[in-house]
Amino acid sequence: MERLQKVMAEAGVASRRASEKLIAAGHVAVNGQVVTELGTKVTKSDQVTVDGVPIKREPLKYYLLNKPRGVVSTAHDDKGRRTVVDILKDDDVEERVYPVGRLDYDTTGILLLTNDGALANKLMHPKFEVEKTYIAKVKGVLSNHDLQKLRQGVIVDGRKTREAKSKLLEVADNRQSSRVRLTIHEGHYHQVKRMLKAVGHPVIKLHRESYGPLNLYGLASGGQWRELKPNEVKQLK
Ligand code: URA
Repeated sequence: MERLQKVMAEAGVASRRASEKLIAAGHVAVNGQVVTELGTKVTKSDQVTVDGVPIKREPLKYYLLNKPRGVVSTAHDDKGRRTVVDILKDDDVEERVYPVGRLDYDTTGILLLTNDGALANKLMHPKFEVEKTYIAKVKGVLSNHDLQKLRQGVIVDGRKTREAKSKLLEVADNRQSSRVRLTIHEGHYHQVKRMLKAVGHPVIKLHRESYGPLNLYGLASGGQWRELKPNEVKQLK
């Protein structure tokens, strides 16, 4: 259920404020019934008309992208860099979707994009605690002690990070670098890079391999994307 003025604004009828005025002035009907109350909420299946003309409501869409390196995870970039939304647009996706959370410019991996604002807000809320798993290539070799510290929480920006999972995957022959899998529930700015830096192993490369119940199965290379299946959307809700 969403507020009528929000639904109207999202459909491009007018701003929320202007939509409220249209409602109050009796121009708007829900399923043929004029409503003037501003608190009115509507579902996806309700038909909303303005002066008898149905508003266009975009279907809710959910896309899963394997983000390549060198694109920004915003809908627009002031510096004119290529965005994750551009990737979908180039493949003729027409809905106005937005990324759910961010991956850094140089980070690769799984990213959800949707025009379902309610779900996006829920998934990004710290209370919801979506589990995210990253593979990081770091400088040097993580010791068992480092891995333990990551699990229990390290101090980043004066705040202790929440419980995490960490596992050493591989050590380079020259021992100059190693690879670690890190599973976290938080999504603060540069969270993974800062956690690894806090234990003395700066990140060289970062990839996200899963987001909640979703993984990159079938999206082997950067830039590939697919639509979520209805049962996958259900799992997120
Ligand atoms: N943590 C980071 O440091 N960077 C990302 O892109 C994602 C999580």
